Amino acid sequence: MDEITEDFQSALQVQPGIEQPSVVNPHLDKNLHKKRAVLSVDEYVEEIIQGNRIILSKAITLIESSLSEHQHIAQQIIAKCLPKAGDSIRIGITGVPGVGKSTFIEALGKHLTSKGHKLAVLAIDPSSERSKGSILGDKTRMEELATDANAFIRPSPSAGSLGGVARKTRETIVLCEAAGFDIIFVETVGVGQSETTVHGMVDFFLLLMLANAGDELQGIKRGIMEMADTIAINKADGDNLKMATLAKAQYQNALHLFPPTESGWIPEVSTCSAYTRDGIKNVWEIILKFVDFTKNNNFFDIKRQHQATKIMLETVNENLKNRFYSDKNIQKQITKYQQDILENKISSYVAAQLLLDTYFNDKFNE
Ligand code: GDP
Repeated sequence: MDEITEDFQSALQVQPGIEQPSVVNPHLDKNLHKKRAVLSVDEYVEEIIQGNRIILSKAITLIESSLSEHQHIAQQIIAKCLPKAGDSIRIGITGVPGVGKSTFIEALGKHLTSKGHKLAVLAIDPSSERSKGSILGDKTRMEELATDANAFIRPSPSAGSLGGVARKTRETIVLCEAAGFDIIFVETVGVGQSETTVHGMVDFFLLLMLANAGDELQGIKRGIMEMADTIAINKADGDNLKMATLAKAQYQNALHLFPPTESGWIPEVSTCSAYTRDGIKNVWEIILKFVDFTKNNNFFDIKRQHQATKIMLETVNENLKNRFYSDKNIQKQITKYQQDILENKISSYVAAQLLLDTYFNDKFNE
């Protein structure tokens, strides 16, 4: 044993005389090589437009990546897909956890794909840490849609700032539309800021509610109800059906007290059961009525233009802020002024003005 150990440097040297075949199957190796090959921007775009879902997923992963080289490619892909995008109905879906969003999305989604539509389901959930920040990450959700050839489900980009997650979702919408998806769902949890963000990127905003809401009703802020183009009272089945019908009348009355919507559309309330699928078709008909109504009065296009302008300005705001606060000189000055403010040597307003003057003068002189 000892003798062997002395000369024993590597297992490869035990039988140096035997020549190893380079590969078992040269064709297999070629394919592997091909799979790993980096696609050019044009190849990505071509495949996406052909509806290649694997390449679409890969491109979305580039959008979600924080690596600057990935971002660089992603931005070029988006730019080239933009002319092919836009031809869809973008629908935001919100409601408190447990209201039945995923069951509803599956029910309405199956109705749509059975009619020949191609549906992409995206989500915005910047706060959640579960399933790596994804509310669609749970594999048991939307089982039928997940295996539907006409549906594409993409979990929320993993947790980050709401602005960042929203940008990625907007860019993902562009790619999905270029890939031929004519209906886009953007799901969000009915708590916090994310509804406003989703409302700012969709054509139609659907709020799911429950009849015997009590606490749930209070969980939905008035502002969210005001944004809704329709309220669907879910779980209108079994013993709950009567309550749901009653709630429908109550919500319809409540909506009448809200100021008229910008589009002139009067939000409709309906009942449905994502479980029995009763009323699901009716929700879709309401959406189609809205699209007709807003296309006729031009609001559909005007709203998209406003959304695009708002995104541009928000991006400017965001970038200005980031650049300002990451400036080393400004960081030093902020620390200094904080102390001066504490000692009453300077007012907060004057300090703010001095900081801005310093930043823009420095930039001007660069
Ligand atoms: P989400 O958290 O809003 O996505 O809600 P889920 O879709 O996960 O549904 C929460 C629970 O409500 C699940 O147990 C569903 O089976 C149930 N549920 C969803 N829709 C309905 C419905 O229309 N009727 C009934 N009775 N139960 C439903």
